[in-house]
Amino acid sequence: MNLAAGILIALLASQSGQKPEWCRALPRPEYRKLERVDVPDKWFEVYRIRPGLFAIYEPHQQEEIISYLIVGQKQALLFDTGMGISNIKKMVEGLTQLPVSVMNSHTHNDHVSDNWRFSRIYGMDTPFTREHAKGSVAAAQEEIGPDAICGELPAGFDAKSYAVKPFHITDWIHGGEKVDLGGHVLEVISTPGHTPDSISLWDAHDRLLFTGDMYYPGPIFLFRPETDLDAYEVSIKKMISMRAQLLLTAHNIAVGDPADLPRVLAAMKQVRSGKIKPVKAEHWSEYKFQGFSFLLKK
Ligand SMILES: [Zn+2]
Repeated sequence: MNLAAGILIALLASQSGQKPEWCRALPRPEYRKLERVDVPDKWFEVYRIRPGLFAIYEPHQQEEIISYLIVGQKQALLFDTGMGISNIKKMVEGLTQLPVSVMNSHTHNDHVSDNWRFSRIYGMDTPFTREHAKGSVAAAQEEIGPDAICGELPAGFDAKSYAVKPFHITDWIHGGEKVDLGGHVLEVISTPGHTPDSISLWDAHDRLLFTGDMYYPGPIFLFRPETDLDAYEVSIKKMISMRAQLLLTAHNIAVGDPADLPRVLAAMKQVRSGKIKPVKAEHWSEYKFQGFSFLLKK
């Protein structure tokens, strides 16, 4: 195709309101197998994974972020608060009347943007976490560019003032803590690598491992300065050793197969030994494997 024809097609696509590339394949077929819970706020899609365990998916923004609500007999824990584009606190209050605390898989903007609404927040005791709790305008604004949104933004959303608002960490954690929700105990596993403050959450009773951004099916972002690939390998080994029955991941598809983790470790070793050729893009080199890829520094 010549350049003029290409420009014309792009123009027609934008005029016809054609969807951005990333969301043309949505909804993802994996969600058909999950039990959908009807919620009034259409920004969110909620799925009941087990009794008392909800995946909260935001499919209208490119991150396709997934936060998790885990409900015990006495209290509930919200593992990440998502984009802050709609009000996750209000939505969660429709799922449980118990007090809800927040814990983050790590403090990248797409996981913490509604933290500010909550009064009890667990945070890893790292300088990275302290810095990110100050919030950011730029990180949020990058998430609402013309190709990042698919479908309707919530009524009342104000793009101009959209920011990661500062939040206050009330409970500093270091890894190893156990949080008892009443009949449901969760253990904090320190799994640095993607960021220094990355954690996984372990439900020993049901053998569930919440992986945050350490692993999800899709391109895994490992090119930022805060990423440490030595730590990443050590943490993936630790996650393999948990022998989980199910992974709950933070982007794209809520449920993941624990058998992916040894493949991730082997793939990372291959990449780091220089055996795999990447596809180079503007900001990263992509190393592709079946079901996931690594985006690394060029
Ligand atoms: Zn992240």
